[in-house]
Amino acid sequence: MKGAVLKEIEKLEIEEVELPEPKENEILIKVKSCAICGTDIKVFHYGHKHIVFPRITGHEVSGIVEKVGKNIKEFKEGDRVAVAPAIPCGKCYYCRKGQQTMCDNLKAIGYHYDGGFAEYMLVPEIAVLNGCVNKIPANLSFELACLAEPLACVINGQILSRIETGDIVLIIGAGPIGILHSLLAKINGAGKIIIADISEGRIKESEFTGCYLIDMNKKDIYDEVKRITDGHMADRVIVAVGSKQAQELSLKLVAKRGSINFFGGLPKESPYIQFDSNLLHYGEFFVVGTHGSTPLHNKIAIELLSSGRIELEKIITHKLPLERIKEGYQIVENKKGLKVLILP
Ligand SMILES: [Zn+2]
Ligand SMILES: [Zn+2]
Repeated sequence: MKGAVLKEIEKLEIEEVELPEPKENEILIKVKSCAICGTDIKVFHYGHKHIVFPRITGHEVSGIVEKVGKNIKEFKEGDRVAVAPAIPCGKCYYCRKGQQTMCDNLKAIGYHYDGGFAEYMLVPEIAVLNGCVNKIPANLSFELACLAEPLACVINGQILSRIETGDIVLIIGAGPIGILHSLLAKINGAGKIIIADISEGRIKESEFTGCYLIDMNKKDIYDEVKRITDGHMADRVIVAVGSKQAQELSLKLVAKRGSINFFGGLPKESPYIQFDSNLLHYGEFFVVGTHGSTPLHNKIAIELLSSGRIELEKIITHKLPLERIKEGYQIVENKKGLKVLILP
């Protein structure tokens, strides 16, 4: 089969690799769609502590079951599925508490195991056992289904942000994740939804959401949020970029008793920010972080996509064959589009 193999940092090559053979509790999937995630670009440039080269990356995957191991009863050849890439162990303290994103032994497809930038992908036993494979309803395309993974992470984030009916939600960062947040916030009953970004192009691409938009190059975000919220500021702030400035800024944009979610991580070599803790002390707001999603969040995401209540067609801006994956990376890196799908 053909696969996009990351041989070492910044060396990605399309190669003929051996077709994996599923063992008794494994599933082999013919990949139909795998979306490029911002973290794929990060991994391309900097590697990752859990990746041993050579590795096939790609973790936003949907496809058709090609072959199942002899013990697999729930799935059969021809089933349409999406795969939740983060694999909890199911046994540790956090897994037993139902907080699987915090699993002490978390593994991930595209990191510990080969991912979806290939014609076929093997789903390991532990992923099958922990419910990472979800069937896709007939009305849902493979292209939308592979976006269940980023949507699942956003679902996790908004549960942690405790969005309530009528809340004013401010999202900093108008990339695909920021837009997903705005669409989900609408379903979750948010009152006003505001998206802010420093890129004019990103702001233009967000127009379809119908949210309040703030082009931070042209307008002062503090003044704008104050104006839109009648001076109360935003009940829920979601920082959907990995930016120190945005995180620091969010402390001044949140309403009293509101919440801030640091959804985007900072580079590991410089993770410190200036934190005026008196703002927190007097404002009694909450600061939470989010990373990843559980198999259940992925299942909810599939159901939500299938219901048609969240429309993600507009965030898919490019579809490319596997051979053109490097071009896809460029598009994502240069922010020339929103979601780029690889259709192997
Ligand atoms: Zn992702
Ligand atoms: Zn665990």
